[in-house]
Amino acid sequence: MTDGDGTAGRIGDLIDRLGRLVRSQEQAGGLNPAQWEALRYLARANRFSRSPGALAEFLGSTKGTASQTVLALERKGLVRRERDPDDRRAVRLGLTGAGRTHLRRDPLREFAGAASALTKEAQNGLSAGLGDILGQLQRHNGRRPFGTCQHCRFFQRRGAAKQSDGPHRCILLDVALSEADSGLICVEQEEASA
Ligand code: SF4
Repeated sequence: MTDGDGTAGRIGDLIDRLGRLVRSQEQAGGLNPAQWEALRYLARANRFSRSPGALAEFLGSTKGTASQTVLALERKGLVRRERDPDDRRAVRLGLTGAGRTHLRRDPLREFAGAASALTKEAQNGLSAGLGDILGQLQRHNGRRPFGTCQHCRFFQRRGAAKQSDGPHRCILLDVALSEADSGLICVEQEEASA
């Protein structure tokens, strides 16, 4: 094993240990890990991605398992489902006020706090490196990236100078996007460089 292999192996070990630590904190926070992930997802997903099917894809679970997660969150009053205004046959999920309040107690915040103690340079390097690893593994396993519009090949940025608040455009879905929309994650996203 070379030095590089040793460092790469240690990165995997550290990610595994951090993951276990996060999961144990999550159980203590009153929700199981899938329920916390679903809450985080619904807080960050755009309006085209807040469906039970997209949530199942994000969680890497079956639709049945994702549906059980949603039902449990609905029973706790943290998530609600409503008819999609763009397609009355479809369901759109969203956080309730209590769901947003609950997210303020997200155990991941403690980890973000620890990361913020690193230098800006270390944070940027770690974020870029972990993002690359995640991207590689997602491609290898045929998983969707769930990135944001800003890095999507279907994103058309408009009027940078005169209209800094948008609207931009999605040429896949043929809809206008606000500046806020462009920072949300999307089930249809495909990396601009892919
Ligand atoms: S531009 Fe890409 S990420 Fe944004 S809404 Fe369209 S498909 Fe989704």
